[in-house]
Amino acid sequence: MNSLSGRLSSMLSATQAAGRLRRRRVVESRLAGTARARIDGREVLVFCSNDYLGLAGDARIGEALVQAARTWGLGSGASHLVSGHSREHHALEEELAEFLGRPRALLFSTGYMANLAVGSALLQPGDRVIEDRLNHASLLDAGRLSGTRFARYAHGDVPALERELSAPHEGATLVASDGVFSMDGDLAPLSALAEACRRRDAWLFVDDAHGFGVLGAQGRGSVELEGLTAEDVPVLMCTLGKAVGASGAVVAGAPDLVEVLIQRARTYMFTTALPPAVAAATRVAVRLCREEGWRRERLRDLVARFRREAGTLGLRLLDSHTPIQPILIGEERAAVAASEALLDAGLWIAAIRPPAVPKGSSRLRITLSAAHCDADLDRLMEELSRLVRQGLLA
Ligand code: PMP
Repeated sequence: MNSLSGRLSSMLSATQAAGRLRRRRVVESRLAGTARARIDGREVLVFCSNDYLGLAGDARIGEALVQAARTWGLGSGASHLVSGHSREHHALEEELAEFLGRPRALLFSTGYMANLAVGSALLQPGDRVIEDRLNHASLLDAGRLSGTRFARYAHGDVPALERELSAPHEGATLVASDGVFSMDGDLAPLSALAEACRRRDAWLFVDDAHGFGVLGAQGRGSVELEGLTAEDVPVLMCTLGKAVGASGAVVAGAPDLVEVLIQRARTYMFTTALPPAVAAATRVAVRLCREEGWRRERLRDLVARFRREAGTLGLRLLDSHTPIQPILIGEERAAVAASEALLDAGLWIAAIRPPAVPKGSSRLRITLSAAHCDADLDRLMEELSRLVRQGLLA
């Protein structure tokens, strides 16, 4: 018998039995300008948001949203190609292109859709996609769904990529990598990837969701940090829901790249444009992200302090110098138990388990933000040290 209810309950039982049942927590409110939120009726300190610069709750951006909503209302009403492409969207694209140092930029409603767009629009049968094994799920899906040959290389392993690239191949090759790996926080070897791509005529596509706004003197991301040009990285994707504190994403590059995405990318053509007021407020957010360099400096100080103090506690850190600071635990249930013990103490830190990370590498994924004050970090270190004493970590 193929009843839907039977299917659903067996799927849920299997997830439960594997210890992978996930639960959403309802955020009842946030305290603007801080890393504090209310969940389950009490205040917690948040160490698991991607709001790296602390802009998501910025009052100036909120005010811009309210002002723009007075003019534009809520919905954009249609896709960009029909009647949804407002002056605010257009100006945001121009400002992002200028910031990223590329001729053009194209807005997407989410980073996931932007990645799928690149994978589907640029490639044709006979082409191939080669990706770092630890790329974000959306980038891996973009490769898989591209309908072309799809290969992965070991994490950060440029010789392994070069071996793939040297296999005989007629069509075009797209090499895709996260700039900063979302679950480990480490940087891709972008200069070496660019060099390998140049030698083999492959196109390098960088997803800089976690580098944009955070890395580089101006916050232009991992491409700026590595001193790479638009020729090195012809396809660049940045999300706006992390350091910029807004929502959506952008793909930046040559005029024809953007034109092909407009003409061919189904996740661009067949979806409603972001609300124009969101685009207007995001323009303010991007400006603040550029201008307020002290937020990046604050973040760097917090990361350095965290690593110094976590090192003395003997925690299993990864080789990350970004605000993503995972503590490796291993077993899924142990990671969940540590996360729950921290929540009991008022610290919200998500346990990350398969399929987001490989089996046996479950972890606490701590993210730091310029919104954290010194006392917030004091509390984090105190609670981590208590968990170490209780044998729940390391
Ligand atoms: N790429 C990376 C590396 C990400 O971490 C994420 C989001 N977590 C995305 C893409 C998807 O972006 P969005 O949330 O805007 O869909």
